[in-house]
Amino acid sequence: MHESMRRVQHGPFLYYTCSRLPVRHAFTTRFGGVSTGHCESLNLGFNRGDEEANVRENYRRLAAETGVDETRFTLTKQIHESEVSVVTEDKVGMGLHRPMAWQSDAIVTALPDTPLIGFYADCVVTLLYDPATRTAGVCHSGWRGMAAGILPKAVSVMEAQLGARRDSLIAVLGPSIRQECFETDADVPTAMEQQLGALVRPYIAEKGVKFHVDLQGIGVKLLEDAGLRPENVIDSGICTMCRSDEFWSHRKTHGVRGVQGAMICL
Ligand SMILES: [Zn+2]
Repeated sequence: MHESMRRVQHGPFLYYTCSRLPVRHAFTTRFGGVSTGHCESLNLGFNRGDEEANVRENYRRLAAETGVDETRFTLTKQIHESEVSVVTEDKVGMGLHRPMAWQSDAIVTALPDTPLIGFYADCVVTLLYDPATRTAGVCHSGWRGMAAGILPKAVSVMEAQLGARRDSLIAVLGPSIRQECFETDADVPTAMEQQLGALVRPYIAEKGVKFHVDLQGIGVKLLEDAGLRPENVIDSGICTMCRSDEFWSHRKTHGVRGVQGAMICL
């Protein structure tokens, strides 16, 4: 685990934070909610076979725990593409309190008191914060989104539409499946190299007929190449599969699982 990461336990609630982010934020775990069965207990997904009322109560508890306004939670729509949307006042609450009007794996904002949240159960969710301009974002990327360059695209949208500055922007890559656990066939490294070129090669290990891709390493490299300072790009170092005692891992559970959230709020 990166030295800036903190494990926060408060009653039944368990989540992780990063000391480099001086705003309200959390990487949630399985614990702190009211869901039961395979979604026990802090499931934040409406598409996991959970009771809708339980999911809504989980959002209320997350809001109370982290001191954010539950009515302003705004959600990503995770389709493994690379669309980035700006959350303006007319979009606040999307995905929780009003229908989703975007297909955006990443959302960014300059609005205060607006918790943005993306979801993970092995995929990399990155929290973005620029202290110079008070802007923030959340970016979901599995290998497809990573290959499609959604992380540098999110940085570009923050810069172009919100005025964020690359030389002060901080990025924290959250708990996610790491190289030693992320075993794939050749299709994944092949697709990533087709889209990102030779830069991915140092992040791919061959083990017999299988491959192990370092998604976080690629994410860090893409963000540094996008102009972020190396000291401002933080890889949490937490593997959801190794730490399935605290996190749902898609691979570990064979997809029978709830989903965690990575939240940031200016
Ligand atoms: Zn692992």
